[in-house]
Amino acid sequence: MDIHEYQAKEILSNFGVAIPQGALAYSPEQAAYRAREMGGSRWVVKAQVHAGGRGKAGGVKLCDSDAEIQDVTEDMFGKKLVTHQTGPEGKGIYRVYVEAAVPIEREIYLGLVLDRASQRVMIVASREGGMEIEDISAEKPDSIVRATVEPAVGLQEFQCREIAFALGIAPAMVQQMVRTLRGCYRAFRELDATMVEVNPLVITGDDRILALDAKMTFDDNALFRHPQISELRDKSQEDPRESRAADRGLNYVGLDGHIGCIVNGAGLAMATMDTIKLAGGEPANFLDIGGGATPERVAKAIRLVMYDKKVQALLVNIFAGINRCDWVAEGVVQALRENPVDVPVVVRLAGTNVEEGQKILAESGLPLIRAATLNEAAERAVAAWKSDMNQQNSKLRAI
Ligand code: GDP
Ligand code: MN
Repeated sequence: MDIHEYQAKEILSNFGVAIPQGALAYSPEQAAYRAREMGGSRWVVKAQVHAGGRGKAGGVKLCDSDAEIQDVTEDMFGKKLVTHQTGPEGKGIYRVYVEAAVPIEREIYLGLVLDRASQRVMIVASREGGMEIEDISAEKPDSIVRATVEPAVGLQEFQCREIAFALGIAPAMVQQMVRTLRGCYRAFRELDATMVEVNPLVITGDDRILALDAKMTFDDNALFRHPQISELRDKSQEDPRESRAADRGLNYVGLDGHIGCIVNGAGLAMATMDTIKLAGGEPANFLDIGGGATPERVAKAIRLVMYDKKVQALLVNIFAGINRCDWVAEGVVQALRENPVDVPVVVRLAGTNVEEGQKILAESGLPLIRAATLNEAAERAVAAWKSDMNQQNSKLRAI
């Protein structure tokens, strides 16, 4: 789960990381009011959306008066901000954060991630702050400093000092850097984060080290033990397809293709996506209905996948061990009877109670395309999708 910049800053600040003074606003009037309340003569107005790259996309604006803040935020509220991280649909701006502008002397990149190779938390830092980490590693790979943390002892002071020296932090400010790094690490560990990113971490003209931007992502599987973090969830920033799935307890990831997938098991779901690509199609989603899925659950999964208007063909691929093909077949029939779909539906069933399942499909009278193997299923789904597209195109041409 992702949270907003202002929320991440508040969390990090509770762990001892210094942040600029700031205030949240839900309307242009409130933004101007909160700036006056804060005082000062220069502010940065920052659109709160779950994505980076806001600066380049017009979501971060420097303002010199409260009237200017009002103007700038009137242009932001209710709009969709499109950055290189949001995809073309963008993300809605419903909150802005007003911050006292700070004089920046230097920008540093700081990130904490889970490093799969070492199975540890890794600190990644670079003198080239402000840039995206992908660009830094492509253009200035030598500037990247990495350190892994031994979980039994935690992040040590000497490691923090080493990182500070490698980043060229002046000796008088090393202690501030140590405090920042340890604060980020403790927040990461204690709150079950999977990512903490401060980009940029800045050194100001008056020798302070401040987190000017902050991003945190949390492990969904550990959210049950952090109700105060769950509370920060903002559905307006999520892919509506994925919020619906999460609310229904389905394991779903939305993708950009046209073939909707209903599969059991994460491994088979991945293999199905690969096979669709191999057959020349693009999957619209990853979906794992899990084991022991009832007909209701299968029907729910189909409705969820069909809710995505990009879906132009449906592929149900079940290899039943704990699952039962007859239940899956019942779910498919139930879903398609209640909500008929106008796209081709391909079903491949194998495993437990497969004969009963096939019988239910055959007797349903629904125009289902059946397949015996995964390859065949993917090929039929792609072929059906293509011929359906051609028919629609020729219909359009006829009009
Ligand atoms: P992002 O583009 O979504 O990563 O948003 P950031 O919060 O990182 O802001 C983008 C850029 O705006 C930063 O890299 C800074 O250069 C600039 N910026 C943000 N806050 C301030 C500030 O208080 N003072 C100044 N001078 N620049 C700022
Ligand atoms: Mn940033």
